[in-house]
Amino acid sequence: MSRRSSSRKSEPVRVLRTAALLLLLLAAACAAPDPSAVEPAAPVSAEPRARLDWALAIHGGAGVISKDEYEPVKEEYIASLTAALRLGAALLEEGGTSLDAVERVVTLLEDDPRFNAGKGAVFNHEGHNELDASIMSGDTRRCGAVAAVRTVKNPIVLARKVMEESKHVLLVSDGAERFAADHGVERVDLEYFRTERRWKEWMEKRAQAEAAESAPMGTEGVVALDRHGNLAAGTSTGGLTGKAAGRVGDSAVIGAGTYADDRTCAVSGTGKGEEFIRFSVAYRIAALMEHRGMSVGQAAEEVVKNVLQPGDGGVIALDRDGNVAMVFNTPGMFRGAADSRGRSEVAIWE
Ligand code: ASP
Repeated sequence: MSRRSSSRKSEPVRVLRTAALLLLLLAAACAAPDPSAVEPAAPVSAEPRARLDWALAIHGGAGVISKDEYEPVKEEYIASLTAALRLGAALLEEGGTSLDAVERVVTLLEDDPRFNAGKGAVFNHEGHNELDASIMSGDTRRCGAVAAVRTVKNPIVLARKVMEESKHVLLVSDGAERFAADHGVERVDLEYFRTERRWKEWMEKRAQAEAAESAPMGTEGVVALDRHGNLAAGTSTGGLTGKAAGRVGDSAVIGAGTYADDRTCAVSGTGKGEEFIRFSVAYRIAALMEHRGMSVGQAAEEVVKNVLQPGDGGVIALDRDGNVAMVFNTPGMFRGAADSRGRSEVAIWE
């Protein structure tokens, strides 16, 4: 076959190819998403996907965290966060559950007076410590929470008891204390929570004319993914310095400060609790993933940057593939993340 006849024969083929290409381009243009359109609901499947073996993220509160004040003690905070990450990493590496990792790591941070939870809790308007905490398991969406407890050494332990040994989700105040006594949860004298730093902070606030409530740094939270593919989240706080007696913040409210669902993500928040409750921040992140098909990073960014106001706080969020988002709209957030691929990092400022 001559080259000429070959080129003549290929002419109709070229025309056909060009037409097919044009048709393809036209179809692609029609299928291209309109950026202003609402994304369709993403199908949520419970099937396991390729992912890391385990992952973990922690926070120790978001806020102004002024460099002048915190630079001199930065290393202490880094050491506390690193110890918390190591504990969680060791538990998850050994095959422990995400729920156990969350409870144990939150407990460690509750016992650390640097953080505004457990031992380091702030004082309310009347000079008392009232503590809130919650925990949630992403497998069945079991959850438990306690609010305004005064004598419970580790509120996260009590929250888990509420989840596992009661038919309720949230117990408060005296009823929660009695439940703690009946279920062998450690209680302490009121004096246990009186740390000099927080007492001074409260006295100073009281002395100021505008001594309303304010957000201190140090609420803490943990999200974890275990080797079995289950997510869990937990949060614990002393709330806001100078808060009204009986005030309950987002850390005790499932869907606001804490949420976990194996189909989407685990979330723990920190910041102005009233705003987190108003906008169902933790659940909203999961809902954006479920109904808008967003990634965990996109959903956390959307809520922290576009739903909350600057200065309101931040979140840590973790999906079932081990992707971590740590997003805040304050100058800083004590935070850290680790996973089975060797990630291990802690940070305070941007
Ligand atoms: N969210 C907590 C509360 O409002 C406080 C904080 O995270 O600093 O009780």
